[in-house]
Amino acid sequence: MPRDPSQWLPEIFGPRIRCDTCEGLFRPTLTEEKLPEGGFRRFFVCPKCDKFYGVIRVTARGEEIVAMIQRTKFSDRVRLQLLREQLSREITDDRERRE
Ligand SMILES: [Zn+2]
Repeated sequence: MPRDPSQWLPEIFGPRIRCDTCEGLFRPTLTEEKLPEGGFRRFFVCPKCDKFYGVIRVTARGEEIVAMIQRTKFSDRVRLQLLREQLSREITDDRERRE
């Protein structure tokens, strides 16, 4: 799994992972959920035992930056780089969260 939390934004889970609880192998499907304070979080659950796996949390400001990135042309590398740097400060790693 990628070390940089910003790489958890796209649904890039290729490899399958093994569930801590039931040891089932599965390919995670990320779910996005709005947070009451603004922003969103992404997580996945084990399809066999429903164990919750937190992935990332993005602040309300981070959500705005994501929208700006989506509107920026791929060729505008300088701006994209700047936005990605700003975004990285609005993302927290949520992988320790187990519900
Ligand atoms: Zn499981």
